[in-house]
Amino acid sequence: MKAAFLVGVRSFEVSEVPDPAVPDDGLVLQVQACGVCGSDLRRWREGPPQGDGIIPGHEVGGVVVEVGLAVTQYALGDRLAIAPDVHCGVCYYCRRGMYNLCDSLCFLGITPGYPGGFAEKMALTGEVLANGIVHRMPDGLSFVEGSLAEPCSSVLAAHDKAGTSLNDTVVVMGAGPIGCLHIVVSKARGARVIVSEPNERRREMARRFEPDALVDPFAEDLGDRMKELTGGLGADIVICANPVAATQTQAVEIVRKAGRVVLFGGLPKANPLTTLDSNRIHYGEIEVVGAFSYHPSFHELALDALRRAIIPADKLVTHTFPLEEVSEAFETAASGEGLKVVVSA
Ligand SMILES: [Zn+2]
Ligand SMILES: [Zn+2]
Repeated sequence: MKAAFLVGVRSFEVSEVPDPAVPDDGLVLQVQACGVCGSDLRRWREGPPQGDGIIPGHEVGGVVVEVGLAVTQYALGDRLAIAPDVHCGVCYYCRRGMYNLCDSLCFLGITPGYPGGFAEKMALTGEVLANGIVHRMPDGLSFVEGSLAEPCSSVLAAHDKAGTSLNDTVVVMGAGPIGCLHIVVSKARGARVIVSEPNERRREMARRFEPDALVDPFAEDLGDRMKELTGGLGADIVICANPVAATQTQAVEIVRKAGRVVLFGGLPKANPLTTLDSNRIHYGEIEVVGAFSYHPSFHELALDALRRAIIPADKLVTHTFPLEEVSEAFETAASGEGLKVVVSA
């Protein structure tokens, strides 16, 4: 089969390798679609973390083409959507069902020994079937839509945590593919949405999701604009959906008293410190919460939300590329000229 290996900084090699063997307790999936994630882009920019080639890709839709002898719950032809997290099942957090916080979390397409979806086929071991995130795709959903379930899941989980609802004004900081998903999900939960995005092209693309306002934070004062839009109150919820520490600082400035700031995007590993006005948090009883990954049930919910077209896949996916053009797919995603980019068979 063909597989794409990340071999260096901004460098993929697509090579012919033996097909993965079917594990007795697992299966082999023919990959039909695999999305390019922001975290894939980061590793592509930085080069493979272990220095050796790994097959990345963790937003996968595919069809079962081989089934191990011991497997009873899956059959040939099953259409599956896959997300990266594989939890251990035995640690403190797993025993309490907080699988995304597992102490030994492994990730398909990221952790060595867990090859991902930028390949024609991938083996799903018994461990992945038992402790990973694997769901059947609803009828009528395309594989590209199935691959979108992964990024949608974390956004759905974040709003579940934030309790986003009808009477909220949500500010989304950053209008990349994830920021746009935050617009969609906030609106689906009934909230008003204001988007802060300095890049004009991204603001233009965010328009198709019909936020209530789009602000260029470099051209106007976001705090003043927020007061204007909320009758002086400030935002109920601010979602930081980008890797920029300054927006976290600003989030605490523009959220109302007893409001919530959700730190959704991670900061660069080498520089994870941020500055927050602790007195505003203290006197204003502001909640600053982290949001990372999700319980597997959100992946199922995302598939259903895609099926019901609550999440409009056609507006999110702007580019698809064949596996041979994985480098072009990453260049396109990195350029910001489109939104979601998917490698598709
Ligand atoms: Zn992802
Ligand atoms: Zn665990």
